[in-house]
Amino acid sequence: MRFGTRDLAVRYAGSGAAALDGVSMEVPDGCLYAVLGPNGSGKSTLLKALLGVVPVQAGHAAVDGRDAREWTRRELARAVGVVPQGEVISFPLTVHELVGMGRYPYLGPLGGESEVDRSAVARALELCDVADLASRDVTTLSGGELQRVRIARALAQEPRALILDEPTTSLDIRHEMAILELLRTSADSGMTVMVVTHGLDMAARFADRMLLLSRGRVAAEGAPEGVLRAEVLEEVYRWPIAVATDPSTGMPRVTPLRSGGERRS
Ligand code: ADP
Ligand code: MG
Repeated sequence: MRFGTRDLAVRYAGSGAAALDGVSMEVPDGCLYAVLGPNGSGKSTLLKALLGVVPVQAGHAAVDGRDAREWTRRELARAVGVVPQGEVISFPLTVHELVGMGRYPYLGPLGGESEVDRSAVARALELCDVADLASRDVTTLSGGELQRVRIARALAQEPRALILDEPTTSLDIRHEMAILELLRTSADSGMTVMVVTHGLDMAARFADRMLLLSRGRVAAEGAPEGVLRAEVLEEVYRWPIAVATDPSTGMPRVTPLRSGGERRS
């Protein structure tokens, strides 16, 4: 699947500045695409515009070349798995039930679960390392556990594309790496993956392309080496930043510097 916008502008009712102001971008089929930028730069709004859930003021947002709002909810729900940011789940479902909700767009009129539904759920639980938690009440999970369960719900859907908003926030090293490797493998097998993250170094290592947003506009777009340049990042994040090549990975490593100079005492 492809995602794309042209001259996209989004302005929320009652707010002064536009959340997105003339954004053009393109995510090709099978691409792992990272969306970066400071708090409030429009990352979540861009994902929502592609899913057709925020009003577009000008320009276009399209999924597979078709305007996001022309897709029916069921069509889009089968095609695109979504892991939203800051979702509160307050009803007492088990992990197994919540992940099973990923199968909702496939259920027949009687709502019965098939063998295909059951094996998709079991596979998603395994992939996200949450099979052990299957009978737990989701309201009792730690932040990182819940995060993995929400990713499992999106995978249970067996979508052709994934859209994830800060999915690795609050994950430990092992689970962050495992999820990023899972996203990479998914993209390698043809899934289109669009992920918002603050992990610039990780994005450099895993993403094919990246988009850096600043106050609703595109500050840079392209391959990681072109986007993660110190002079661009310093201006966007308004903080002194050094970029070096990490000898272990060969990729850019972004280091925010201490404002008064480096010292350890
Ligand atoms: P990011 O995900 O990059 O942190 P967002 O896309 O959530 O940024 O927000 C972009 C801008 O739009 C911010 O200034 C934010 O305050 C504003 N905004 C987001 N959602 C709404 C809303 N529902 N109503 C009004 N303003 C909003
Ligand atoms: Mg956001």
